Amino acid sequence: MEAEPAVEVVGLVKRYGRKTAVDGLDLTVGRGAVTAVLGPNGAGKTTTIETCEGYRRPDAGTVRVLGLDPVADAARLRPRVGVMLQSGGVYAGARAVEMLQHTAKLHARPLDVDSLVERLGLGSCGRTAYRRLSGGQQQRLALAMAVVGRPELVFLDEPTAGLDPQARRATWDLVRDLRADGVTVVLTTHAMEEAEQLADQVAIVDGGRVIAQGSPAELVRSNESAGDTQEALRFDGRPGLDLGALLKALPDGTAAAELAPGSYRIRGPLDPQLLATVAAWCAQVGVLPDRLTVERRSLEDVFLELTGRELRS
Ligand code: ATP
Repeated sequence: MEAEPAVEVVGLVKRYGRKTAVDGLDLTVGRGAVTAVLGPNGAGKTTTIETCEGYRRPDAGTVRVLGLDPVADAARLRPRVGVMLQSGGVYAGARAVEMLQHTAKLHARPLDVDSLVERLGLGSCGRTAYRRLSGGQQQRLALAMAVVGRPELVFLDEPTAGLDPQARRATWDLVRDLRADGVTVVLTTHAMEEAEQLADQVAIVDGGRVIAQGSPAELVRSNESAGDTQEALRFDGRPGLDLGALLKALPDGTAAAELAPGSYRIRGPLDPQLLATVAAWCAQVGVLPDRLTVERRSLEDVFLELTGRELRS
């Protein structure tokens, strides 16, 4: 029973009229981990999550959540699964903290409402109607509502979109604490830093399918093309430096490129000697290597390589 994944999506298809939003998507979410679902706008993330939450029925494929069917077993899943919708999903006229207290009472072992309110900075919103809260306050309340019942599994759709840096950090801390308590978290985000900070597993969705899945480190490693190592040396100098001459001083297997006029990248086995050689060569040719840095490939690099740079309509 414990070995069973928290969420298992197999061959999910979801259409809106003639538009296929999700197109044969497979996703397995392990228990007790944080999984981030990434993807360009319109990739099908929200549709997938909403299907897992039982708000939408699959047109094909199967979805199991905690071993149950999210539509047929909705009543059994409700006390075990926390949901934070992108749109809030909260009655607009309700008073903020009262609503949270009410939600807490529906659960057997709720979190302490006062400390949750304080953690998420909702203390001043007590009797304010939901519709009068700022966008960020609404988000934080929706997050509080999703977790107050101490669920086993939480779905968070873009939990930090539009939040200020303080609220974003408070949200990250809360997600980390949920994970430490053994809660399974599935979140969507456009913030690559968020996925890198929080996620044990990342699934990249594009065109309604998962096109890559793994830990952030695995994704960065596995998408290295030949000779395209994770690290590079970058510096700025005057345009048109003779990189052929520089390469003669560097070990075989090193590549050098002028990416934009005066912006250089050296790729190869990066060690202190390489850095010293590049710095010495710059001194020889009378160039101060400005902004000399060791650059590491990031999840964002991988994301852009896999999903392309075009804007999505
Ligand atoms: P975003 O990052 O912009 O939130 P997403 O990956 O969550 O995008 P979805 O919201 O799942 O993407 O949308 C997938 C596709 O389905 C999009 O082309 C969208 O326009 C379409 N779509 C989503 N909801 C509906 C709906 N209720 N009716 C018709 N089309 C829809």
